Amino acid sequence: MLDYCMFSMKEITGLELSPKKVEYLKLLFRKGGVVRTTDISSSLKVDPSTTTKTISDLASIGLVDYTPYRGAELTEAGRKYAEFLVNRHNILTLMLSHYGLSSEETCEEVSRFESFVSRSAIDKICCSMGHPSVGGCGRIDHAFCDVS
Ligand SMILES: [Zn+2]
Ligand SMILES: [Zn+2]
Repeated sequence: MLDYCMFSMKEITGLELSPKKVEYLKLLFRKGGVVRTTDISSSLKVDPSTTTKTISDLASIGLVDYTPYRGAELTEAGRKYAEFLVNRHNILTLMLSHYGLSSEETCEEVSRFESFVSRSAIDKICCSMGHPSVGGCGRIDHAFCDVS
């Protein structure tokens, strides 16, 4: 297991990962534990070689532990980053729900652009909404909020 990670959670901007990599991290988080690469491929509808490449990239930056023929699992840093991703999703869906979109619509729209919204913007939005505890798609955790 890697005990090094290029991400210090204090310093993440939220813009480190491409939308595709965000999907992988959220999927590993949702499934929990070791996930077989074939399951990842079928869930994300990508071919196995793409999955192996992306998982290896995530492993090289310390977010995922990958064992060929076994599968991939989030590292501690990966799990923390995924928590931020889920939180960002839930804050943005809650925000859009205030403007006339249904919950399915907010989830779908947010999934298209969430990777491009910075952590500092999320902090400010969360703060201006009064740090709500429940978002459009689940619980909101304020561990990442700069509550000062
Ligand atoms: Zn959602
Ligand atoms: Zn907050």
